[in-house]
Amino acid sequence: MAGQESGHPGAAPACGVPTGAAPVGAAMVIGSGVAGMQAALDLAASGIKVYLVESAPAIGGKMVQFDKTFPTNDCATCIISPKLVEVARNPNITLLTYSEVTAVEGTAGNFKVRVKRKSRFVDEERCTGCGICWNACVSRRIPLVKTIRKGSLVIGRSKDEGTSDGDLHP
Ligand code: SF4
Repeated sequence: MAGQESGHPGAAPACGVPTGAAPVGAAMVIGSGVAGMQAALDLAASGIKVYLVESAPAIGGKMVQFDKTFPTNDCATCIISPKLVEVARNPNITLLTYSEVTAVEGTAGNFKVRVKRKSRFVDEERCTGCGICWNACVSRRIPLVKTIRKGSLVIGRSKDEGTSDGDLHP
């Protein structure tokens, strides 16, 4: 067992931590897609403090953009939502969203990581996500015409373009 090996004086532990160096006891997971979130949850469940770094403003990765998953046609949101909540509420996981790793130093078991946190221009502790500022923002970009495409084929347009029904049409 790895724990017994690392207990021998002078023996190199199985995890690759240099002999004599004390592990800091925290882990960093970069990327908060399904795999990153599961890795963070598993580490946190093992009692390890986890820093989950995500370059996007929110966690979830690509799966939160899907409606259904292949090949079972399961609801993507139904699968990922419980994980999003679990990650957000886990006291052992610190989320660093809208952030990027810019430097990594050190050796296995004792890394020092520099993380650049991009500004959101709001107080994250106080923001409730009500959306009032978004609605009032004069520089937000919303397409006048919402077009749904499948490859080069247009399969739907929004009401703004003067369609009779305003919904999807072939
Ligand atoms: S207006 Fe609402 S969404 Fe915008 S920063 Fe304030 S609390 Fe957050």
